[in-house]
This record gives sequence, structure tokens and C-alpha cells, in this order.
Amino acid sequence: MNTSAFIPFARPDIGEEEIAAVAHAMRSGWVTTGPETRAFEQEFGDFLGGGVQCIAVNSATAGLHLALEAMGIGPGDEVIAPTLTFTATTEVIRYLGADPVLVDCDPFTLNIDPCKIEAAITPRTKAIMPVHYGGLACDMDRIFAIAQKYQLRVLEDAAHALPTTWKGTLVGQLPSDAAVFSFYANKTMTTGEGGMVVTKDEALAARMKVMRLHGINRDAFDRFTSKTPAWYYEIVAPGFKYNMTDMAGALGRVQLKRLPAFLKRRQQLAQRYLEALKELPLILPADAPAGDVHSWHLFVLRLAEGAKVTRDEVIQQLSDAGIGTSVHYVPLHRQPYWRDRYQLTPEMFPEADKAYQSMFSIPLFTAMSDAEQERIIAALHAILG
Ligand SMILES: *Cc1c(COP(=O)(O)O)cnc(C)c1O
Repeated sequence: MNTSAFIPFARPDIGEEEIAAVAHAMRSGWVTTGPETRAFEQEFGDFLGGGVQCIAVNSATAGLHLALEAMGIGPGDEVIAPTLTFTATTEVIRYLGADPVLVDCDPFTLNIDPCKIEAAITPRTKAIMPVHYGGLACDMDRIFAIAQKYQLRVLEDAAHALPTTWKGTLVGQLPSDAAVFSFYANKTMTTGEGGMVVTKDEALAARMKVMRLHGINRDAFDRFTSKTPAWYYEIVAPGFKYNMTDMAGALGRVQLKRLPAFLKRRQQLAQRYLEALKELPLILPADAPAGDVHSWHLFVLRLAEGAKVTRDEVIQQLSDAGIGTSVHYVPLHRQPYWRDRYQLTPEMFPEADKAYQSMFSIPLFTAMSDAEQERIIAALHAILG
């Protein structure tokens, strides 16, 4: 009964102000990393409350790679990461010749289970990469305690966590080595493609700034505005090409300005779902503890035991009703590359594997109307009620 327009799983919220800002950057004659990106970095740091270094990049994946490289992660090293994540979290570990060690999730939050982290530590372990799944902060007290005990780095994959707080502190201001945010099209704000590395560590920041652009000791904008000859630069390492364009930076500045309103809308939609779906045979996503912020990047449902339909049937019936869904995620231990390379089996990750079998994500995006949300709620009641 597909009576109205298709509701996609996600849709970016881009208005005339963003379009004007991008057009302005294009007309300015400076389209690569320049004044817009600089201003975006500054404003992003201000949004987080200041006192941090912000390094804009062309994806969060690039940012995670830069951060691990700056930490000196290399062949023979191990990095702990959750199995219930996107492959970007762990592929960057392999870029550097190191090995991810996957850990199961907590069945309530679906975040990495701190109880299982310690068992995964070996003499080769160098870092932990928590992922704030769906926008709910990991138990960072426990993770920092483990990191301190074993002298490990902490790199937050904060792709879902803008803005998210842990015990009142914004992700980006926690005492990790670095946090990396994503501005991919479906994230809580977008630059088309893009990411931001945030750190308080001056040495890490300096290395990442050099490696972001070919291993050049200063970027192109500096070259063309400072007093030293424009043609002179020094290569200090075989760097990467990870800088953000000024069109993306201009788009990001407008989206960042709208982020508080985006969050408010996401919170409204999430609270409405939590209320309207509570009688159905579903496990609802964990809310943030009182006083903390859940970014509500994702709204992940799980079928309760004894539900009369399967997960795949729910997804099909929602699709028949004109509603897009997704699954976050096929856990990495089930993906051929990771499974085969590290001989991983579902039994090694019982909670993530069980969650995977029953999970599906429903649309939650700021441009969604109340009427669209009510259609989704009604469809779920029709399927599961
Ligand atoms: C989206 C995402 C990334 C990668 O972000 P990009 O900006 O697309 O590179 C990394 N980790 C997680 C958990 C993500 O959801």
C-alpha cells in the first residue's frame, strides 16, 4: 500500500543558504583549501568550546588514517575496535600494515563492551578505537581507565557523535588522543564528503597537518599569502591528499550554524519514535543517560524475541509501504575480508551477531516531516502490532 511518496532512509538538509555559500566560494577564485576551510576549522573548534586543534579533511576515513599514522601505528601493531561498525573504522588500521582486533558489543547500548576489551589486549596492542554507535557515547571512563593501565592511545571514531556528550562533556573535548567526525551525506551535518580531526595534542596536530597535504611543511594557502617566496616548499614525508575543498568548507560552515536546530529536530523525532513504538515487540535504542546528549544519528530497532515476522520481512514490508531502511551494520566479523583474514566466527561475537540478526534502522533525518514520521510509525504498527 504505497499510497504516497517514498520516504528515503536519509536525505541531507541543504537549503538556499548552503547553495549561496558554495556559489560564493566558487566565484571567489579560491576553490581548494583556503579561507572557507580555515574559518570552518575555527568555527568547529568554537562549537566544541575551544582549546582544540581542528584539521579539516576530505573524509572521516582520511582523518582516522591521519590520526593513526601520526600516532606511529605500523606493521606488527594491534588496534582494538568494535565488530559492530563500518569498515572505515578498521580499514585504516590495515592501510598502515597493523591489525585490528575486534571486540563484541554491549547488548544494551550496542557500543563496544568495555568488559571484553581487556581480554583482547596483547603485548602488540597500541590503541583503542571506540565508535559512539548511532550517536550514543561509549563508556569512556572505563575505556580511559583501560588505556591508562596498558598505556594505549585512544582514537575516537566520532563519525556518529556530532554532537554527543559523555558525562556532560562533548565528544571532541574528552581526554582521548583524537576524535574524528564525518560529514558524509547521511551524517548529522554534511559537506558532501568531508571530516574533521580534533585533538589537543600539538605534536599529533602538527604531523597530521603535514601529512594531510603531500607531506608539505605548510599548505598552499600559506604559500600564497605569506611573505616567503610562493614557489618554495619542503617535503618532509610521503604524505597524502586529504585536504578539504573550500566549497566543502563553505557548506560546512552553514551546516554547523544549523547544527543546534538539527539536533533539536533529531531529538524530537527520536522521542516521538521511543513513545510511539514502545508497545511493539521491539528492542528500542538506548537513550543517553539523564543530562547527556545523544546525537540520534541513527535510530536502530531490534525485533524482540517471539516477534511474528523476521527482520528481512519487516524491511521488505516497509519497502512495500514506501519506506527506506538500512542495517547498521553487517558486523565486520561477517564480512569476507575481515572474516577470512582473521579467521573470525559469529561465536566469537555473540552479542553483536545476535543484534545483527534482528536489527534494522528506520529513517531519522531533520528534513523529515511529522506526517512522514507518522506514516513510518503506522506502518510499523501494521506490520508488528
Ligand atoms: C560514515 C562513517 C565513517 C566514515 O566516514 P567518511 O566521512 O565517509 O569517511 C567511519 N566510521 C563510521 C562508524 C561511520 O559511520
